[in-house]
Amino acid sequence: MGDMREAGRVLEALRGQSEEFTALRRDIHRHPELGFQEFRTSDLVAERLQAWGYEVTRGLGGTGVVGQLRRGSGQRRLGLRADMDALPIQEATGLPHASVHAGLMHACGHDGHTAILLAAARHIAEHGDFSGTLNLIFQPAEEGLGGAKKMMQDGLFERFPCDAVFAMHNMPGFPRGTLLLREGPTMAASENITITLRGVGGHGAMPHQAADPVVAGAAIVMALQTIVSRNVPPLQMSVITVGAFQAGVANNVIPHEATLKLSVRSLDREVHKMLLRRIKDLVQQQAESLGVQATVDFQGGYPVLVNTRAETDFARQVALELLGPEAVTLQTEPVTGSEDFAFMLDAVPGCYLYIGNGDKATGGHGACMVHNPNYDFEDANIPVGAAYWALLTQRFLVD
Ligand SMILES: [Zn+2]
Ligand SMILES: [Zn+2]
Repeated sequence: MGDMREAGRVLEALRGQSEEFTALRRDIHRHPELGFQEFRTSDLVAERLQAWGYEVTRGLGGTGVVGQLRRGSGQRRLGLRADMDALPIQEATGLPHASVHAGLMHACGHDGHTAILLAAARHIAEHGDFSGTLNLIFQPAEEGLGGAKKMMQDGLFERFPCDAVFAMHNMPGFPRGTLLLREGPTMAASENITITLRGVGGHGAMPHQAADPVVAGAAIVMALQTIVSRNVPPLQMSVITVGAFQAGVANNVIPHEATLKLSVRSLDREVHKMLLRRIKDLVQQQAESLGVQATVDFQGGYPVLVNTRAETDFARQVALELLGPEAVTLQTEPVTGSEDFAFMLDAVPGCYLYIGNGDKATGGHGACMVHNPNYDFEDANIPVGAAYWALLTQRFLVD
């Protein structure tokens, strides 16, 4: 594949648009919206796509937008996805384009992902040399609310079938403008669990007349750690964190109820199933042995994000063609965070990759971690990310 001069031309063309799309990114940054409330953002996305000749469909997952462009006689269908939502964080950057909404902030760079895909959309509409169907998927509510799943429940891949889907997320701590990819499990499956223990309350001086949910809860916290150390294969990653243990108010009162809140993560579908099954069994049997009743509530989390081999190889080839080997990390480490693009990759093959947002050496805001009040997206990444999408579209959608 590949003619380096073509990749260079795409990059150069997108650098020529960078002022417009930096302004657009900063405009979105100034007006952050929480998941499923991306009204202004989705209006802006839909208006632009329409103006550039895309067939626009709205309403999937509430505020989701799909822009479709068909060209030539090619039968292949490609999906590119960006997320649009912000976080409930009070921005502390002090930048001129800081959020104007108190307590709301684009602290995960989804403003940048949206701007990248829009910049690509315009370039592809005006100069794209491809044959097939391009579906640009702007999804709501990535931050914990599962907007990807909502769009799929509204028929995303039935109405807009895709042979492969790709998505990109910025990654602070890595040089800006570099791409990082990994085949296989790339981001963790996660599940939130609430355990309620019901015993019999009583006087702190007469424990024999009570059934103490605090002692049962303490035993369960310790026993849960044996799942990671004794049931999970030693070469597999898994985490069980008890982030909350709530019970009682007074020294001399045995409460009748205790609550535990867990975060559970792993990088393997089978291990994840086993973790959930073992937690349920272990909690129930521990509770029973200590004379209290347990209910285990699974909140329904995110699956493990798995990049498929052929599509990851393809994504790598495009990255190498655009940026050369010095700017592409071929097998980056998996991350214990989660991402709802995992739902899309459960249904359609594809690849989720990272773009470095800057490191200490390059300075600025780029090295600050996402979800931090001082975070800002690196605007120099817009032409790089957009050129990547444009080139990937040309290489994927061929007769
Ligand atoms: Zn985030
Ligand atoms: Zn994010």
